[in-house]
Amino acid sequence: MEKVAVTIVGAGVIGCAMARELSAAGHQVFVLEKNPGVTQGENQSSRNSGVIHAGLYYDPETRPLKASLCARGAAMLYDFLEKYDLPHLRCGKMVVATDGAQLPVLQMYQDRAEANGVKTRLITREEASNLEPMVHSTGALLVPDSGIIDPTAYLHQLYALASGHGAEFLTSTTLAGATLRDDGIELTVRYRDGAEDNFLTGWLVNCAGLYADQVARMINPESTYHIDPMRGEAARFYRTKRPELWVRSMNVYPTPYQVVLPGGAYWTVGVHLTPTLEQMPNGKWGPGPVVTVGPLNFGANGREDYAGQMRPMEDFHREVVSYFPGLRPEDLEPHQVGVQARLAGHQDWVVTTDPACPRCLHFLGIDSPGLTSSLALAQYGRELMEG
Ligand SMILES: Cc1cc2nc3c(=O)[nH]c(=O)nc-3n(C[C@H](O)[C@H](O)[C@H](O)COP(=O)(O)OP(=O)(O)OC[C@H]3O[C@@H](n4cnc5c(N)ncnc54)[C@H](O)[C@@H]3O)c2cc1C
Repeated sequence: MEKVAVTIVGAGVIGCAMARELSAAGHQVFVLEKNPGVTQGENQSSRNSGVIHAGLYYDPETRPLKASLCARGAAMLYDFLEKYDLPHLRCGKMVVATDGAQLPVLQMYQDRAEANGVKTRLITREEASNLEPMVHSTGALLVPDSGIIDPTAYLHQLYALASGHGAEFLTSTTLAGATLRDDGIELTVRYRDGAEDNFLTGWLVNCAGLYADQVARMINPESTYHIDPMRGEAARFYRTKRPELWVRSMNVYPTPYQVVLPGGAYWTVGVHLTPTLEQMPNGKWGPGPVVTVGPLNFGANGREDYAGQMRPMEDFHREVVSYFPGLRPEDLEPHQVGVQARLAGHQDWVVTTDPACPRCLHFLGIDSPGLTSSLALAQYGRELMEG
């Protein structure tokens, strides 16, 4: 039976970043992707907010991987985007308080940002309104290293680099089963026409996103990880339509708050305003006319719950009107739906080898800020594999 050195399951940003990282280090890499295309990133990697997070939200005690890899990943990502001249903008972000009671929460996030090595500055209402005149606040936390990215262009570059280093991508190819053997892991793959094939791999790297728990159980039936998919809807408006909608260029977030979903209570960064990118006449990237408003999160009806009616625009409006009072529900229209791979019972990502199979590396629950952190996650994954 044919044997390959490393098989990666999933060609989203994590699988593609791993493929680039490992192929550049000289490993023979095969990537299996169930969808027909790689560069569309049809699951989480294209259906996201496209924000480069600076890394201020994550408590190093309870979310050590997110705390360390987001800030490091953002720095690596900016270097990468600049090197390959990919669409992005280091536009900065304001986390705004709309009443005095929220200011201590911002202070707490500033302390956390400092612990994570992230630059922030508490600013007054006047400073905030100089930066974004239509945003209402009683003060804000300014995060200069937050930004926006075109996730699909980034994914495409990772794919091109990995391919250039010899990684092979098999699309419309689903991992359907795995058996541990003395000489490796025997994988069963299913093609688009239903035909199946088997081959051996030395390493299996599970980057299956919303299906990573199922892949983990193929390797180890005792695995108890469970992905609890969370649907996130986004609306949009055109900042050029009315003077009251003038958002200059920043990401604007509310003060984080707790929400309760069927899987339990968790802190959310909240429904935010995020500019989209547009190429300027000088060739540089700047903020385009569209601003997204989202995500509005709730338990998903299945792992690929993209269809179906979005929440009424009034629901998005209600979330942001306290800090963006010029917006009216009728200014909003549906933008996109995404589903995040939230790992039930875990606040942090789990990146680990399998207890039943030390040559299988799992990336489990890679929800936000997985896009931002993808290069650092891949480096971390390779280091785990190389011991
Ligand atoms: C609404 C939303 C907003 C977000 N906003 C941000 C943000 O602003 N900033 C940020 O940093 N992050 C954000 N994220 C998170 C980010 O998008 C994810 O962390 C990242 O895309 C995860 O990439 P991935 O490769 O793990 O998963 P995916 O992109 O889901 O890729 C997994 C791939 O595995 C394939 N696959 C699954 N099972 C199999 C199988 N058995 N065989 C073969 N292939 C298989 C799938 O088809 C898929 O292509 C957001 C996510 C969502 C949903």
